[in-house]
Amino acid sequence: MSAIEAENIFSDAILRLDRAFEYAQMDPEVLERLKYPRTSIQVSIPVRMDDGTLRVFEGYRVRYDDSRGPGKGGIRFHPQVSLPEVKALAFWMTCKCAVVGIPFGGAKGGITVNPKELSRLELERLSRGFVQQIADFIGPETDVPAPDVYTNAMIMGWMMDEYSKLRRQRMPAVITGKPIPLGGSLGRDDATGRGAYYCIKELESRRDWQPREMRVAVQGFGNAGQHVARLLHADGYKIVAVSDSQGAIYHPDGFDVPSLAYMKNESRRLEAVYCDGSVCESVNAERLSNGELLELDVDLLIPAAMENQITAENAHRIKAPVVVEVANGPTTSEADEILNGKGTLIVPDILANAGGVTVSYFEWVQNKAGYYWPLEEVHAKLHTIMVREFDNVYELMNEQQIDMRTAAYALALRRIGEAISAGGTGRYFSGNDA
Ligand code: GLU
Repeated sequence: MSAIEAENIFSDAILRLDRAFEYAQMDPEVLERLKYPRTSIQVSIPVRMDDGTLRVFEGYRVRYDDSRGPGKGGIRFHPQVSLPEVKALAFWMTCKCAVVGIPFGGAKGGITVNPKELSRLELERLSRGFVQQIADFIGPETDVPAPDVYTNAMIMGWMMDEYSKLRRQRMPAVITGKPIPLGGSLGRDDATGRGAYYCIKELESRRDWQPREMRVAVQGFGNAGQHVARLLHADGYKIVAVSDSQGAIYHPDGFDVPSLAYMKNESRRLEAVYCDGSVCESVNAERLSNGELLELDVDLLIPAAMENQITAENAHRIKAPVVVEVANGPTTSEADEILNGKGTLIVPDILANAGGVTVSYFEWVQNKAGYYWPLEEVHAKLHTIMVREFDNVYELMNEQQIDMRTAAYALALRRIGEAISAGGTGRYFSGNDA
């Protein structure tokens, strides 16, 4: 991603606010405040590599808004991480936490690195080094990080440990998505995929879908993509295409998702499933590019990889009537207009992928209480929130005759607006609120 593209992600993200404003019934001051992040920090992290040389990595943490509670959002390790990208991701987190009504603002962090090139020890040193640099900006009551693209539970455990050492006390609530024995919550691992699955089940009942007739393409087979594919497959949905950063595979009869996930997690690449060797002989699949996967004639398209996948360039060729955004920001605002014009239903990222941060909230609550819930309780509470907010957004969409994304932003803005207005706005202070 070029610097200009990254800068555009943020300005494009902000456009959604303007669009939703007229349906949000709130003070214009709120809109103005939400156009700027509260705090952005850029740090450098010197890391001693295994061969004795020194490398310096760049990292960021943006606390976008904390009107509704401490900042909340993941940390991404990716070669394309940049400050404007992290700002956009932190903005989306702000709206996401408001859409599901959990008491957090929004934040995000990242390090510009290809973690696949680092040894495990180098990765640990980098993770701990990052926490040393951002320690004054995070904390259970200020900003609570979590996993995101190419970070995982073990990395969260290292970060929690480093923070606890700096504070000289154990502080599990500083970060979520930790390993279970270190204070993680049951059900956090598949929560993002499960939240999206609950949204799809809501659509299924509203639209009378027959799972066995539903052909689904999933772009991205990381944590979120794998779990939503697994849950849908278990209900009979046909997962006809999946992809990872190396490319996509397609089979009109659908894949056995558990075996694909097993192969992917063993080999780290989906390609191992269909390249040379015995497994590829048993999986007969056509090879496609990631772009071709998006344009397949399927009933449901699930982008679960990175930002800016559906753009003005390819939106005309998207055939799926329903898109459920499991990735953050996979559709640009120009593409939105094209898809809305064609009547495509887009379940927006800030709702569809909010299951992850919702269970992160449960983890934070459990850490603070020191009392841990069984898995069924986590699932039941997640289900209640996802269904409630899906309903709220869907109703607002129908009531106002707007697209589902605008409805989700309007709902988020109302909630953020209520928190900001509770402290008084210009109308109150100038006495014009009568
Ligand atoms: N990285 C995830 C997201 O984009 C989870 C954030 C969290 O749990 O705080 O929603």
